[in-house]
Amino acid sequence: MTTFGWVSDTVLRLGAFTCVLVALIALEFWTPRRPLSMNRLQRWTTNLSIIALGSIVVRILAVVAGWIAVPLVAMTAAVYAETLQFGLLHQISLPSWGKILLAVIVLDFAVWLQHVVSHVWTPLWQLHKMHHADRDFDATTALRFHPIEIGLSMLYKVVWVMLLGLPAAGVLVFEVVLNATAMFNHSNWAMPLWLDRWVRILLVTPDMHRVHHSVHKDEHDTNFGFCLSVWDRMFRSYTAQPRDGHVGMTLGLVAYQNEQPAELAWSLTLPFKGRPVEASGSSSK
Ligand SMILES: [Zn+2]
Ligand SMILES: [Zn+2]
Repeated sequence: MTTFGWVSDTVLRLGAFTCVLVALIALEFWTPRRPLSMNRLQRWTTNLSIIALGSIVVRILAVVAGWIAVPLVAMTAAVYAETLQFGLLHQISLPSWGKILLAVIVLDFAVWLQHVVSHVWTPLWQLHKMHHADRDFDATTALRFHPIEIGLSMLYKVVWVMLLGLPAAGVLVFEVVLNATAMFNHSNWAMPLWLDRWVRILLVTPDMHRVHHSVHKDEHDTNFGFCLSVWDRMFRSYTAQPRDGHVGMTLGLVAYQNEQPAELAWSLTLPFKGRPVEASGSSSK
């Protein structure tokens, strides 16, 4: 745990997470984009249990890191790099705000890149597909990442933080912002279209990320961003709208168009099941 002023980073994370999730759920109830098709209570229980398990994995990594004196979580890595003056940013002079901004941008690119590789490399896809199996799309879908994927993501982030010498404050800002934007762009809020057009110039909007959850492979292999929308435009992996329309499109994976994705045990064991054709137009996954 790291303390900023009088408040710990855990309190900051939990506070931001709860406020954003409650606000988005209120918007989803008020103006939903699509009707939900699965049992909401079961699905929410599953998605919330998955994020709780992911948090436990990160906690275990932090405890093990303390035992073996090797940073295994991003925040500790930042403190470790600063103590050793290790990494690129410790060799150059930049104001603190500049380092924090750079950390947010660089880590967002790193997560975008990891997401692209997760769709291409089968072992990572086996983990990542649990996220895509959700047949509904709301703020809780953003919490639905396999705990092993959460652990691997953390180790991957540690490498970036160490090599670049990213500051702890930058890592914290990034993690809080990414968590909030991921819940936002998975939300079932019918955001006004004029607002979507403006916001997606900078950030990934729900209409932009919903394309990524299409059953059509050519659509689900686009729009990989979770925060900044620039990477998909820059690397030509951007799809503006789904061809079946936001209300008419089918979400999830072709092989799992049933009630199983709402079950916790089924979801957690999905990476270890066989590999049927999961996306329309897919033959390799
Ligand atoms: Zn994906
Ligand atoms: Zn998603």
